[in-house]
Amino acid sequence: MKLNTAYGQLPPAFFFTEIGARVAAYQADHPHEKLLRLGVGDVTGPLAPPVIEALRRAVSEQGKAATFHGYLPETGTDFMKAAVISYYGRWGVALSPEEIFISSGAADDLGAIGNLFSTDSRVLVAEPAYPAYVDTSRMAGRRVLPLLGTRENGFLPLPGDDLDGDLIYLCSPNNPTGTAYTRLQLQRWVDWANERQAVIVFDAAYEAFVQDGDVPHSIYELPGAETCAVEICSLSKTAGFTGMRLGYTVVPKALVRDGFSLRDMWTQDRTTRTNGVSYVIQRAGEAALSPAGLRYNREAIALYQENGRILADALTKAGLWFTGGRNAPYLWLPCPEGMTGWAFFKRLLREAQIVVTPGEGFGAGGGGYVRLSCFGSREDTAEAARRLLTVF
Ligand code: PLP
Repeated sequence: MKLNTAYGQLPPAFFFTEIGARVAAYQADHPHEKLLRLGVGDVTGPLAPPVIEALRRAVSEQGKAATFHGYLPETGTDFMKAAVISYYGRWGVALSPEEIFISSGAADDLGAIGNLFSTDSRVLVAEPAYPAYVDTSRMAGRRVLPLLGTRENGFLPLPGDDLDGDLIYLCSPNNPTGTAYTRLQLQRWVDWANERQAVIVFDAAYEAFVQDGDVPHSIYELPGAETCAVEICSLSKTAGFTGMRLGYTVVPKALVRDGFSLRDMWTQDRTTRTNGVSYVIQRAGEAALSPAGLRYNREAIALYQENGRILADALTKAGLWFTGGRNAPYLWLPCPEGMTGWAFFKRLLREAQIVVTPGEGFGAGGGGYVRLSCFGSREDTAEAARRLLTVF
């Protein structure tokens, strides 16, 4: 038997489990201490009332022969695609239903999109990064070339004349650094990809957090993106759907490489490998993207954004350098005294009872940093902002 030995070269899968275990052990030893959790990358608020209503309605339809739905189109229902089209209209982006693929979330498609590229493709990943880009590329046997975000480039690497690659993963607004490309910066990537005939896989999972007018929500707001970019997004952070599992991928008709339409290839891939997303969940997604759903979601996001402002203000007042906290629900902070992320994680837990995520979990360039999340409660965040400064 020959197994895929690439799995043996991946980092251990227990990074977040390890954080959980260390936090649980600390809490067991200090049962009376209240921990302030800024480590989570998950939403904490409930689903919006219009979503709950849509779920109830859809479940009841599934209980009656006259309204029951079995298999649905693999790439998504017309009503869910129409909801996505209308959502993109807000940024002035016109999509057609054949360019939209409804998925079970961004994570699934971020890995699966690699199916379209040969195993000898060179994959560039702007790191530190959400681990799926590097790990799924390696699982498929592809060469990953890191493109380092650093303090010098503000964790927003840009293409130079000598940069080469076939496929590049960009995430903006970014997890873990909280940074976001401006239109001008992202345009440089679009122009680079079109010149080189490369393909950008644009992870827009945090687009709903964008606050600044010069930061695009979608890469398709930029001219030329439709001939070089696939966009992968989800309702996880937009509408608190992390436990619901619903996303969408856009592959424009105009994206053609070596005579192949990537949209046609992706249609083939999805209709072969998947049977689509459940009717009930797609109805919930339609409600989340409706005007009423979006109003509720904006309120939920505003709470997380306010947490970001509280943390950013505290760090700024203390004169500390950091990125993020404005267009994304994360702040990225160098550890003091040259400590590793893990060492600072321990110190924050012991001395301030704050839980953060060590940067080492986000690949190249992540060591020596920690990520703070804005998904905690308001009280915990405000208290953490106060206590954080006592450990520097
Ligand atoms: N992309 C980024 C950058 C993320 O941080 C996450 C989840 O945290 C995902 C994708 C996965 O999103 P989904 O829940 O849609 O699979």
